Amino acid sequence: MSDQRLGDLIDDYCPRCKLLLNHAVASIMEDQVVKVICKTCYTEHAYRHGEGGKKKTPAGVTLFQQVLANAAPSEEPPAAVPTEGTAPAKKKRAAAPARYITRHATPPRKK
Ligand SMILES: [Zn+2]
Repeated sequence: MSDQRLGDLIDDYCPRCKLLLNHAVASIMEDQVVKVICKTCYTEHAYRHGEGGKKKTPAGVTLFQQVLANAAPSEEPPAAVPTEGTAPAKKKRAAAPARYITRHATPPRKK
């Protein structure tokens, strides 16, 4: 992969367009493309080898897990949810969980 030259067209992920688009090679170091310019929005950015946005997802997953933890208190694990149709009313149950906990005081089942 050492036949790229400055100004050559190259496919890469544009962080601004959030798409895989044509780019022009803007900087080369040791036969490796290090910077490219998006031909659509003319943003210069580091060459991503066609990949983008995947490395930042863990932070979003953590936030999502925190939201889940808040919605389901540890005293009442999801496995012990009664079959009275309370599953769709998750938000209401989180707002006033005391009623259901006292009524279903069974320990969580573990298989
Ligand atoms: Zn772009």
